[in-house]
Amino acid sequence: MSRRNKLYEGKAKVLFEGPEPGTIIQYFKDDATAFNAEKKGTLAGKGVINNIISEFIFKALGDIGIPNHFIKRTSMREQLIKAVEIIPVEVIVRNIAAGSLSKRLGIEEGTPLPNPLVEFCYKSDELGDPVIAEDHILTFGWADEHEIEELTFYALRINDFLSGLFAGIGIKLVDFKLEFGRHYEGDNYSTILADEISPDGCRLWDLKTGEKMDKDRFRRDLGGEMEAYQEVARRLGILPSADVTEIADHIKKES
Ligand code: UDP
Repeated sequence: MSRRNKLYEGKAKVLFEGPEPGTIIQYFKDDATAFNAEKKGTLAGKGVINNIISEFIFKALGDIGIPNHFIKRTSMREQLIKAVEIIPVEVIVRNIAAGSLSKRLGIEEGTPLPNPLVEFCYKSDELGDPVIAEDHILTFGWADEHEIEELTFYALRINDFLSGLFAGIGIKLVDFKLEFGRHYEGDNYSTILADEISPDGCRLWDLKTGEKMDKDRFRRDLGGEMEAYQEVARRLGILPSADVTEIADHIKKES
């Protein structure tokens, strides 16, 4: 890992220069942070599970025509992706009130929303990713009108698809965060989905019991994070029992 040229290290992932120009290796760490990195921890095996969950979801989204940065998974913790210029706007889609929306507007957690709600946040760790309006995005030139339309259109399509996918395996998709980037090809560029989609950036509640199967287990000190993440992968059908042993062996070797 250290021999390669590191481009960027974030809270949960590291980006390395890829084998070809225009490609990047995305490495999934076990580090977990919450509340703008005020709370920090390590969840053994999280990177491995998030790598395969994100691979599965990005492939499925590609299959329904959502352009994205995923090329292929290259190892237990790594995937090859297309290099993009990240748009500094986080797109959050909500189906049920929870987390910061409940706090900000005093809406009880668990209240179903009449329509999916799309929110934008300015991607800035120093500022704690504040919620912004479309006008802020235009005023400060973070994206143009057409890009905002595309982000919203893709976010809602992804929400429809993922809500159905998760409902089919007994999970409610409460909310999730997306990031997009500009992918340059010659003088042209297109907006594509980037980053990851995993239980780190989604709220997933068991349909029957309401149990949380996402990073809120870590944020709220509920424990059982890895069991929950693995259960999501298992229900998605991407964690056959042989793989569990393989992953456990891999994690043991790493530590
Ligand atoms: N989220 C994320 N990264 C962020 C902020 C939010 O992945 O920097 C995800 C979070 O996991 C949740 C959704 O976006 O699924 C909505 O998060 P919320 O605004 O409620 O913030 P939180 O309660 O996590 O502070």
